[in-house]
Amino acid sequence: MRKILIVGGGYAGFYTAKKLQKHLARGEAQVTVVDPLPYMTYQPFLPEVAAGSIEPRHAVVSHRRHLKKTTVITASVSKIDHAAKKVTVTPAVGDPWDVDYDTIVVTAGAITRTFPIPGLADEAIGLKNIEEAIAIRDRIADCFAKASNLPAGPERDRLLTFVVVGGGFAGIELFGELRSYASALLRHYKNLTIDDTHFHLVEAMGRIMPEVSLKTSHWVLKNLAQRAATVHLDTQLASAVNGKIELSTGESFESDTIMWTAGVMANPVMRNTDLPAEERGRLRVGADLRVISDAGVVPDAWGAGDVAAVPDLVPNQGVGGFTVPNAQHAVRQGKLLAKNLVADIRGEKPREYRHKNLGAVAGIGLYIGVFQSGPIALKGFLAWLAHRGYHGFAMPMWERKARVFGNWIINFLFRRDLVGIPARDTPRAAFETWAVRPKV
Ligand SMILES: Cc1cc2nc3c(=O)[nH]c(=O)nc-3n(C[C@H](O)[C@H](O)[C@H](O)COP(=O)(O)OP(=O)(O)OC[C@H]3O[C@@H](n4cnc5c(N)ncnc54)[C@H](O)[C@@H]3O)c2cc1C
Repeated sequence: MRKILIVGGGYAGFYTAKKLQKHLARGEAQVTVVDPLPYMTYQPFLPEVAAGSIEPRHAVVSHRRHLKKTTVITASVSKIDHAAKKVTVTPAVGDPWDVDYDTIVVTAGAITRTFPIPGLADEAIGLKNIEEAIAIRDRIADCFAKASNLPAGPERDRLLTFVVVGGGFAGIELFGELRSYASALLRHYKNLTIDDTHFHLVEAMGRIMPEVSLKTSHWVLKNLAQRAATVHLDTQLASAVNGKIELSTGESFESDTIMWTAGVMANPVMRNTDLPAEERGRLRVGADLRVISDAGVVPDAWGAGDVAAVPDLVPNQGVGGFTVPNAQHAVRQGKLLAKNLVADIRGEKPREYRHKNLGAVAGIGLYIGVFQSGPIALKGFLAWLAHRGYHGFAMPMWERKARVFGNWIINFLFRRDLVGIPARDTPRAAFETWAVRPKV
């Protein structure tokens, strides 16, 4: 049986495996997914998870539960040796081992891209995985609880100052959702008001959300300003040492919660492979998702999603001629990749990837959203409904959709759950403090 190995079970990898399960005939191929995480993450929900509007486990999809005909290995691929047709798999515990394959599919996604800004690596947190979203949710709840015990002053200001760097889609959604979360928390802190909280978004360019029209982005800026959230355009983060934020404009303030959402880059596994990469480190693929080099198609190698530079065949779309890194593309590429792989196994011709962007929809707080498709724009409540409707149904698996919608209905009836669990990082602390030890 042909051995197909998928590196990464996120959007593109999960859908490739799911569709291969459907399209492959019995005995035609054996599919293995390798991913350090036991689940795929529905990343567009991360801002709402951080804001307490979605329970974290509802925003991820278990590989083992939903890829029943696929072999799942929960570990990282640390090296891809395509010449020898083997990958090195490195588990969290135990020694690495090699896995042979006949066909490889690289869908390892992207990681947060950072710059060498003093203090950034030590102080900030990204928003690319569910653990980061949970940590932000708990941190903010904890900051409010601590701040309420303090008199007005620099210490309290630092706790109630929240900074997001990066005004793209993810950054603005996070910023808007957290502003809404903070307002919900304020209802429970009678000694704090909105004026005591400070929200700063730092964006290097002169505008936010390049995916929507300038007019729509201006509406978002106005909306955020009305909600006491400051956006610094044409501004860069210069330093974050010990939580002291210094901006390129000379402005400075302190914060315990610095969130970085300023772009992504191809997964570093691409630095440890003989598969061809383009200048930005992404896997080189053709429009049919087969890996290509200068010499033409590389046999038995495929790629899709954020890790790959997929040519965008739709005129005037994409960046630099390639599809932009988003879920809309990753899902569709994963589905097509599965079909093309089956076609290839059966000696048929693979199809080229072509998808006209459907537009963009974002939630920027409870009951507030924006939607843009070509010249058509929706703002406010209707756009927010479109955002929830689209993403609720786009969440893979009915079981997961039901949990998300169920959670939203419960939140509508009883409001979002504002309980913070700050001791989550030190779960043994209470036990360890009081545990009786043998006498020495
Ligand atoms: C906060 C946020 C909001 C977003 N909102 C939207 C939105 O509203 N609309 C939209 O279209 N897009 C959105 N996106 C972008 C979208 O989520 C990504 O483009 C999409 O997840 C890319 O899919 P992928 O399969 O390429 O990568 P991923 O979904 O990131 O999957 C990559 C997988 O590879 C695994 N992996 C990593 N390293 C290894 C390794 N060494 N070995 C094996 N496996 C590995 C990872 O654990 C992961 O499971 C958002 C992203 C973020 C972060």
